Amino acid sequence: MDIMNYLDDPQVRKALIDKAGENAIAVLQLLRQNLKDEEIAERLGVKVSDVRVALNKLAELGIVYYKRKRDKETGWWQYEWLVDAKKFKSWIDREFNKKYDDLIRRVQEEELYYCPSCGISHTFSFDEAADLFFKCPVCGEGLEVLDEETVLAYKKKRK
Ligand SMILES: [Zn+2]
Repeated sequence: MDIMNYLDDPQVRKALIDKAGENAIAVLQLLRQNLKDEEIAERLGVKVSDVRVALNKLAELGIVYYKRKRDKETGWWQYEWLVDAKKFKSWIDREFNKKYDDLIRRVQEEELYYCPSCGISHTFSFDEAADLFFKCPVCGEGLEVLDEETVLAYKKKRK
């Protein structure tokens, strides 16, 4: 699977925005090819400083890295950015394992509900589910009690 396909996954998107800011997704989408930070800023129509903030945060997560090159004409250093597909994938795995483990801990302590059609990225407490008359607010399907086994099945499917 092309690692960039993960950028369409709502959970991955949310995690990236939380960790690296609102420009993170757009920046990563452009890095299907190697680009300099100025080129990214130009294509996105945002400030270079904003692009650098996103790139530095993504670099801290290990998702991107740069190659330094000296410009032959100006003699200045230029930074060309690349996605590290292997580290991006292991970041996603870590991020989601943590999420699933948290969820398993929660279902051991309280009754949680989920929509079998929409998946477990959204869960509802008993009170929230009751307010929704146990119907999914997105698709209208009946909500079901989430158990440990279901969370584990989702965790396995993700790999
Ligand atoms: Zn649903």
